[in-house]
Amino acid sequence: MTNYSTWSNFVEKEIICDGIHQQIKESWKISKTFNVPYRKPYGDKKIDQHLIIQLKKCHHQNLSLIKQYMVKIADGISKECDFAVFVINNEGFLLEIISNYDQQMRSELELEIGSSWTIESLGTTAAGIALKYKDPIGIKGPEHYQERYHQYLSIGLPIYDTEGNVIYVLNLLLKEEAKPRVIDALMMTAVQGIERELYHQAYKQKIESLNRELELQNNLYRVQANLLNRMFDNVSDMVFIVDIDKYFIKVNQMGQLLLKKMNAKNLHDVYRNVKITDFQGSGFTIEQDPIYQVFKGKNSRNAEICIHYKGKKQYYLMDAMPFKDHLGRDFAIGILKDVTGFEELKNLKNQYKLKAEELENVINTISDGVAIVNSEGRYTLLNPACDEIFQYKTFLKEDNYYVGTILSYANVLTVNGEPVAYEDYPVFDVLKGKEVLNQIYKIEIMGEAKFISFNGIPVLNHQGEVEYAVISYSDITKIQNQQLTIYQNNRFIKSIMESLGAPMVVIKYPECIFEALNSRYLRFIEEITGKSYTLQSLEGKSFRQILDSDVALEWHTMADSVAKERKVLDTRIIQFKDSKDQEVHLQVIYTPIMNDDGEVCYITAVGVDITSQIRAKKEAEELAKMKEEYFSVISHELRSPIAVVHSAVQLLTGELYSNEFSNGNIKMLKKIEKNTYRLLRLVNNFLDITKAEAGYMNVNYNNVAIAGLTESLLESIQPIAQKKNIELCFINHCNNLVVAVDPEKYERILLNLFSNAIKFTEREGRIMIILQEDEKSFSVSVKDNGIGIPANKQNKIFDRFYIVDGSLSRKNDGTGIGLSLVKKFVELMDGEIHLYSEEGKGCEFTVVLPKKINIGAMGVEFSEISDNFAEKIQTEFADIKG
Ligand code: ADP
Repeated sequence: MTNYSTWSNFVEKEIICDGIHQQIKESWKISKTFNVPYRKPYGDKKIDQHLIIQLKKCHHQNLSLIKQYMVKIADGISKECDFAVFVINNEGFLLEIISNYDQQMRSELELEIGSSWTIESLGTTAAGIALKYKDPIGIKGPEHYQERYHQYLSIGLPIYDTEGNVIYVLNLLLKEEAKPRVIDALMMTAVQGIERELYHQAYKQKIESLNRELELQNNLYRVQANLLNRMFDNVSDMVFIVDIDKYFIKVNQMGQLLLKKMNAKNLHDVYRNVKITDFQGSGFTIEQDPIYQVFKGKNSRNAEICIHYKGKKQYYLMDAMPFKDHLGRDFAIGILKDVTGFEELKNLKNQYKLKAEELENVINTISDGVAIVNSEGRYTLLNPACDEIFQYKTFLKEDNYYVGTILSYANVLTVNGEPVAYEDYPVFDVLKGKEVLNQIYKIEIMGEAKFISFNGIPVLNHQGEVEYAVISYSDITKIQNQQLTIYQNNRFIKSIMESLGAPMVVIKYPECIFEALNSRYLRFIEEITGKSYTLQSLEGKSFRQILDSDVALEWHTMADSVAKERKVLDTRIIQFKDSKDQEVHLQVIYTPIMNDDGEVCYITAVGVDITSQIRAKKEAEELAKMKEEYFSVISHELRSPIAVVHSAVQLLTGELYSNEFSNGNIKMLKKIEKNTYRLLRLVNNFLDITKAEAGYMNVNYNNVAIAGLTESLLESIQPIAQKKNIELCFINHCNNLVVAVDPEKYERILLNLFSNAIKFTEREGRIMIILQEDEKSFSVSVKDNGIGIPANKQNKIFDRFYIVDGSLSRKNDGTGIGLSLVKKFVELMDGEIHLYSEEGKGCEFTVVLPKKINIGAMGVEFSEISDNFAEKIQTEFADIKG
């Protein structure tokens, strides 16, 4: 806008584009050619006053700002020339003006508030062009379309808003002589200032409105957050947010309740404390939990979760989905919906269905008849058992199953056989609303009688009327017959009890009630209580009701111990005085009777009268005592005359009378002496065996060194053996053995065996004595190489009075008592004796005795032979012919 002298100058300075240039030129040319009138070619474009006021009001703030700059421009120009500085809005209406033109000029040049300065109104003016083409422009003199502006220079500068839209155009109209350069600068500065301030204002407004929006937004967020939190905590579902390490980041109130129940702080605890499965019961590991699966990229919808807790099952459906927080961290959200009630209902429904099926099965298979009769008396259900009982299918068609018709072919009787009239059938009572229980009828069908137990219950509707009757029939014919059998059995048992010659009772246990008893037992009770009873009055009574309390207690204790032992007990003897004041002894035999479960339910007691046995035993004892006394008297009586004879003979053969008798006499006397020994041996042996066999022989154990004792016995017979030149050999394997034996009996055993060995061994023979021991016993063997014993005699030689019938035995006459006495003694000491022999080669007798020790006795009491041993040897070996 530096030089406005020519039109082309505008174009060159790129103030106005070619297109506009052309238009302007053309419009101007046209106006010239056609002599267009200069005034208001398109009519009056002024708008009405009211609208102007509205417009100004709208633009008030901006206009007052623009006006400040207009004033500055006006100040800069007014001294130079006449001018008008004005502003139009984006519709082209003049809104503000400062001018030093008079009113007439203003009107002439349309310089009035509200006049339109668009190209359409005034043709080419800088204001109209700047508004249309949004560029600053200056129009000079005749370049104006209308002639009235030809003397003027018009300058238009658009004012832009922040978005680049033209909102105003600031204009200047003045005579061409003015200094355009100054004006140009002035105008530019003004526009820049205006724009800056407008921008500023616009931004300020924008920021303010943004702030306002922001605050509104924040408020909205706050409200939403609160709302979310409230919803989070108040929904009935359980919400869990879990991190990748399986720790709960946030859990709503319902969720917390569940965790508390499971005593869990994290998912690990949950899986440690409770069992988790799906609804079918297949278990999950923690890695398979739907909430954890989210981290593996798998979301879930309605996943089945069943928590087994304290024996209960809780059913849940779970939705699980991922969630990222504002820092981009990954979490999983799990929402659990409790569907336990629903699942249980489902299960219950299934159960009921099963139950119903079961019931149907039961009804169809039970042996009891089940029937349903409706209020009209028609059978709507009859299970198969009904037909088995009544056989109605044989006689009736299905449409005839009515009360009355169903038994029309049978005789209905009472238990006692009296006929029951149709109207009195119990089913009618039930249909009238009465409950009928266990009524028994006898039904005769084709000559066969059955006992039926009838039960019926009425089922009422809401109005309390009978809707149908449920009936059950049981065929109790068998039971009835069984009862008869039981009754007969009872009578049978009672008659057996009665026929028993002893008192007998059956006691019900543990109640201790007299269940059954016979009259002898009744008498026994009467005798011990001193009261009289009948059988019936005692049956069913307890011990306490009949007996004195201390007797009852004693009997109770006895019954308890029988029940505990669970076997027959016969050791108890009851003693009492009968009515005749005679002492009676009863041995009571208790027998427990067990039921199918093995529990004692009855105890029988039979009293066996042992008064006579007791008496006999007493007498026997007295007799035994007498016998023992007799033994000692006899042995004394038998021994003493022999002893007298013996000592007399000894005296006569002694030194004192040596000169008085001839050799022949002395020989006779020696014979007498020897025979007194034989007699003594015989008497001793005889008495001992008799005593032992009568059971009066005692064993007196002493701890002895067995080898020492055996050896000294051996030594003592050495002289006798020597007489026959028999070698004695002692083989001892029991050097330090100390055992408890009866030394006297041991002595007698060995001497007896020795004497036999010497007796039945030829001269120059050999006898071996062998002592051996093992863990529990020791043995002493006497082995000779004499005549031996034939095999067929060996098992007899221990019999009393047995003598082997042979030439040698006759040579060595004996009584056959010795070995039986030996055997007796060995047995008395709990031992055994064995014989091994071959005829002609010799005998070996082995005595085996247990290794006992007499704990009561201190030390070893005996290892030497007894006092009058020489005597004993003499006696024992009296048979030996030396
Ligand atoms: P006694 O008391 O009369 O000696 P025993 O009972 O001791 O009778 O012996 C019974 C019989 O056994 C003897 O008569 C004898 O025939 C036979 N007998 C016993 N011991 C021997 C033996 N060592 N050798 C051969 N026969 C023997």
